[in-house]
Amino acid sequence: MRSNKYDYIIVGAGAAGSIVAARLGEDSNVRILVLEAGPHDNSIYVRMPAAMSYPLTDKKRIWEFETGPESALGGRMVTHLRGKMLGGSGSLNGMVYVRGNPRDYDRWAEDGLSNWSYAHCLPYFKKLESYDKGGNEYRGGQGPIRITTLKAELEPFRAFLEAGQQAGHPLTEDYNAYRQEGVHAYQANIDNGIRASGGRAYLRPAVRRGNVDLILNALVHKVEFSGKKAVGVTFEKDGQIQSAEAEREVILCGGAFNSPHVLLLSGVGPAAELASQGIKSVADVPGVGKGLQDHVAVSVKYRASHKGVSPAVDLNLIKMALIGAQWLFLRRGLGITNLWEVGSFFKSSDAVDYANIQHEFLPMLGELMHGKVNIEEGFQYQVCLGRPESRGGVTLKSPDPRLHPSIVLNYLQQEQDRRNLIDGVRHTDEVIQQKGWDSIRGEAIVPGLRKKSDADVFAWLKENMGTQYHPCSSCRMGDDDMAVVDDEGRVHGVESLRVIDASVMPRIPNGNLHCPTMMIAEKMVDRVRGRQPLLPQPAHYADDKRWT
Ligand SMILES: Cc1cc2nc3c(=O)[nH]c(=O)nc-3n(C[C@H](O)[C@H](O)[C@H](O)COP(=O)(O)OP(=O)(O)OC[C@H]3O[C@@H](n4cnc5c(N)ncnc54)[C@H](O)[C@@H]3O)c2cc1C
Repeated sequence: MRSNKYDYIIVGAGAAGSIVAARLGEDSNVRILVLEAGPHDNSIYVRMPAAMSYPLTDKKRIWEFETGPESALGGRMVTHLRGKMLGGSGSLNGMVYVRGNPRDYDRWAEDGLSNWSYAHCLPYFKKLESYDKGGNEYRGGQGPIRITTLKAELEPFRAFLEAGQQAGHPLTEDYNAYRQEGVHAYQANIDNGIRASGGRAYLRPAVRRGNVDLILNALVHKVEFSGKKAVGVTFEKDGQIQSAEAEREVILCGGAFNSPHVLLLSGVGPAAELASQGIKSVADVPGVGKGLQDHVAVSVKYRASHKGVSPAVDLNLIKMALIGAQWLFLRRGLGITNLWEVGSFFKSSDAVDYANIQHEFLPMLGELMHGKVNIEEGFQYQVCLGRPESRGGVTLKSPDPRLHPSIVLNYLQQEQDRRNLIDGVRHTDEVIQQKGWDSIRGEAIVPGLRKKSDADVFAWLKENMGTQYHPCSSCRMGDDDMAVVDDEGRVHGVESLRVIDASVMPRIPNGNLHCPTMMIAEKMVDRVRGRQPLLPQPAHYADDKRWT
């Protein structure tokens, strides 16, 4: 047994954990330990944006969860990967950089979290980023995460933007500013051709400064308590069980599946569930693991009418080596892009108050996932349900910390979610019929989606939908009976224990979750440090219900 004393212990070096550790480490008299279950992020496949499918097959760098059985999907299981390395899922994600709709945060405030309105979050969104077009009322110009606006120059990207406008969607220059809705070129957390993650931009420099210790390949088993006060953790490294003490706080940053798992293993959760696994209860917090949300995604695919539309078709070893060399020596070519260069946000129907569907778009068919590069000519719109109401949960299957918990998302269980996604799919197929696609559009992989009955579209969805990999809300912020943490991340019912990661979101935002998670980390860590929050910055936005 080894025993180490620190001021703060942080569990997980992911998107949130990296920021929390780095900001705490700015106070040089404070000692911080970060425990990360996975290895380093030192891999060309992590750094090169176009290689992002490779880490997804690197078993030592991923958590491979199965969620389900999903009852609305006929009992299907859904594979759910998470990053397990320095930087967490931020080191293997798609790098699509989206804040969510400002209205999402005003809804958090309307639901009782008055310190989490858009005006309260905006200064923290700005603090974390360096937007390539410069800082302004909405955007940050000097933060650690560099944001690149993608060029969207390929023929299918231009067709996407044109067809979207022909279908009635405005062109939005910066969907992370005044108006989210419309078609746009995406922004990505890419810094001069290299993935920009919390791990690289925050944690690595903090570790070099000296007061942040990082232990990799260390699986935290549980939080240790003295009465109701968290005083340390037990973890496993190289097969040895070790412990570390926290004099001030333990902060869980394990992500939406793992943070509730560690809480449950530690005796913080629904008393009956803990008792059924023989775990002694420290605090009966019924909401732990409950309320889990995620974004559903499904692809509408078309072949191209001719060759030369899609990049990376017929990739062989020589061509791949050339792409690698161009990226390595010149920071140019296909290597510097994540290929998700255009997209849109729109309302699934007029009955919806603000955008609830997101398009991500790939200018090719075939699998980019799992390291496969069997690319075919064509294109695909990934249709993502941005504001689902269905909620699931994380529950203990075993008291053994090495075994995964049971995870059920209850995808599309709510009728409204099915309605909205079916409408979103139909509208997508209508957009593809616009003139902008005439010179490129070949045959549909699934013909006539726009004309099929609701029942037929849903039957197709059940078989084909997957996840956008955005689990959240399993340790929800709030002060109601099912809330797990307060508005500063402090776990209800115990002392000196916080959760700071995607799991604290009260409700999923309309957009990818990396940026919102980093914002939450920036905002909460100010409170951990006892600092006054940055002053709210009220800014008009298109969906603001106070004046639209
Ligand atoms: C395949 C994929 C693609 C995605 N694409 C995008 C995208 O394009 N844009 C976007 O905005 N978002 C994307 N996301 C989502 C985004 O990356 C996450 O929402 C975000 O990283 C969540 O941050 P987090 O800090 O909550 O968790 P994570 O970043 O997952 O970090 C959690 C960390 O905790 C560690 N950990 C967990 N349990 C323990 C334990 N018991 N002991 C020690 N360490 C532990 C994990 O290993 C991990 O490193 C994607 C995610 C995935 C998986």
